Amino acid sequence: MQPKELLALAEEYGNPLFVYDASIIEQQYNRLTAAFSKVEKLRINYAMKALSNLSILKLLKKCGSGLDTVSYQEVQLGLHAGFTPDKIIFTPNGVSFEEIEEVAQLGVQINIDNLSVLEHFGAKYPAVPVCIRINPHVMAGGNQNISVGHIDSKFGISIYQIPHILRIVENTGMHINGIHMHTGSDILDIEVFLYAAEILFDAAKQFKQLDFLDFGSGFKVPYKKGDIETNIEELGKKLSKRFLAFEKDYGRSLTLAFEPGKFLVSEAGFFLAKVNVVKQTTSTVFAGIDSGFNHLIRPMFYGSQHTIENISNPKGKERFYTVVGYICETDTFANNRRIAEINEGDILCFKNAGAYCFSMASNYNSRYKPAEVLWKDGKGHLISKRETFEDLIKNQIVLEF
Ligand SMILES: *Cc1c(COP(=O)(O)O)cnc(C)c1O
Repeated sequence: MQPKELLALAEEYGNPLFVYDASIIEQQYNRLTAAFSKVEKLRINYAMKALSNLSILKLLKKCGSGLDTVSYQEVQLGLHAGFTPDKIIFTPNGVSFEEIEEVAQLGVQINIDNLSVLEHFGAKYPAVPVCIRINPHVMAGGNQNISVGHIDSKFGISIYQIPHILRIVENTGMHINGIHMHTGSDILDIEVFLYAAEILFDAAKQFKQLDFLDFGSGFKVPYKKGDIETNIEELGKKLSKRFLAFEKDYGRSLTLAFEPGKFLVSEAGFFLAKVNVVKQTTSTVFAGIDSGFNHLIRPMFYGSQHTIENISNPKGKERFYTVVGYICETDTFANNRRIAEINEGDILCFKNAGAYCFSMASNYNSRYKPAEVLWKDGKGHLISKRETFEDLIKNQIVLEF
């Protein structure tokens, strides 16, 4: 999107503001499906925890996406957006058995990542097909080495516990219809992804009634110069070939599934905030904006570096700024970053603000969550309103003293 278009939206809807460019989401979805076009049955389940606005869900539904959900409430949102239960997969971690039961009763595919839950579920509902989440214990080590560490991850059933799984399946007569892995941010490059995939293929051979293999996500998008971007086209080529060979071996047609969040929505998002103060100190120049980790926590939470542009003065001479928020805590977005000269009142634009930004926003310091706008066909559409004072107090029961 052009700085002018973004500025006009900030003018119209106020700031801080989240803007999502629909065409980037569609483009990323199409890139992914094109990369795997050789696979007959491909299924993309958007990991909605990245950005769960109903209009975004509807947009992805129109693209042909399914949904990956992690809570009963996300399933409800998905159904509300018009997804049918068969288009939703539930991949929780550490939720109660009752929650899994409730989701299964809706007809949603469940994915179990714990032996005790698998045993309990299999004993109670042997007829309900279940996917199992495997932890392949693969991570990218230094120098692009592949290590089989990460033994302590809380996610998935260890690949070393396959014999236990098989015993549970035999004892309960349950039906395992899918095998899943999601190694998240451990996956840094294609070789590591393919290495982990081999482990999954190997595990899959032990289950005779599979309908799908789910390779999760972990696709990278660049946040700053020099960042790795998953070469999805190359991964598509290599993994498709391997998948087709596996399918032949396995003797049964399978669906290949992925569940990207970041890849689909990160780059579509722009976060716009106004500079309240420029503060010169003896060591740096602070630019203080009308936001903080209440709206965008990733820089403080993960140390992620969002590119920041001054869209009010895009051609200005670059200077060094430390961009901070207005929260009464340390909330640094960027340290000594080169940004076009900033004046009080300027609007800064944070890139890659689609994934895990609004969805992690809170009301800390009793601030309102920002509005969200979808940019589609050259026009801005409000898709969630800025909160109001009423929102802050609506659940409170006030005692008088
Ligand atoms: C969060 C999550 C994803 C999406 O991860 P991204 O890095 O956003 O692509 C996929 N699958 C599961 C199970 C997740 O928890």
